[in-house]
Amino acid sequence: MTADANFALGPGAEFDTVRVMLARWGALASGVGDDAALLDVPAGSRLVVSTDTSVENVHFRREWLSAEEIAYRSVAAALSDLAAMAAAPLGMVIALSLTDQWRAQIVQLADGFAVASRNLGIPIVGGDLTRGSELSISITVLGSVERPLTRGGARLGDALWVTGRLGGPLLALRALESGAAPKPAYRARFAQPAPRIREAQWLAAHGATSAIDISDGVAADASHLAAASASRMILELDRLPLMLGATVEDAASSGEEYELLVTAPGTLDHRAFEREFGIPLTAVGHVEAVGNHGQGLETQNRSQPVPLPRGHSHFSG
Ligand SMILES: [Mg+2]
Repeated sequence: MTADANFALGPGAEFDTVRVMLARWGALASGVGDDAALLDVPAGSRLVVSTDTSVENVHFRREWLSAEEIAYRSVAAALSDLAAMAAAPLGMVIALSLTDQWRAQIVQLADGFAVASRNLGIPIVGGDLTRGSELSISITVLGSVERPLTRGGARLGDALWVTGRLGGPLLALRALESGAAPKPAYRARFAQPAPRIREAQWLAAHGATSAIDISDGVAADASHLAAASASRMILELDRLPLMLGATVEDAASSGEEYELLVTAPGTLDHRAFEREFGIPLTAVGHVEAVGNHGQGLETQNRSQPVPLPRGHSHFSG
């Protein structure tokens, strides 16, 4: 934000709310106040765009998360889609629909966006504000990438790799839905997910051929990857990396993990990855066939086929 940009905003309640946010954001916001944002894309790179909407009582409940956490989480979720493409963040546009009650929480929401902007390395380059019947946060993220990872590039013989440990968000949701306080480790995975931006760039630079971020559960997302890659994949449930206290079934179906599922050669140096990022990188299956040799996902437990675990469709589902 520049002094000029602030000055250019007119009078009125909407602009007062924007001014409150800009005051909290300081240098984290740039170019706000002109009609549109201008971004430089590095030479040789392509622009990557993704948008993600979080709606009260669909994606979260007010009593489960603070306003700061709701704002932070909405940015992290949007950024995870940039991570899945191995893109570097350029900027985000924040569109808010606020009730009067939520307008009274504007400082807390703004601070959540500020923490996300700072910690996740993405400037705030624009936004929109409307009045609504519930809180809705739409985050559009813009990024750049030279060699994008897509869902469609898996190769015969690749291993399936997953970052981090799975199950935390599901265990947090299970506790919250039953009225209990989740263990701090589970709650952190739910309230402050970590989009794997740098991890994805490392994986792309080390031979990854396709990627997806885990939003529906690793089994469901592996199915998406298999379909997009027109391949047959084997997911070995007994190899899933578990958060302490999570079962294999929890890990397989836990959604909104925002970990990455990638295909890459089985020779990938996972120890180098683990040294770099301090989280595990685990081989959990492989690409068994590509093309017309039978497509889709087979889940196995101790080398035996087992039914596909049910995916996650937000807490309301
Ligand atoms: Mg995604």
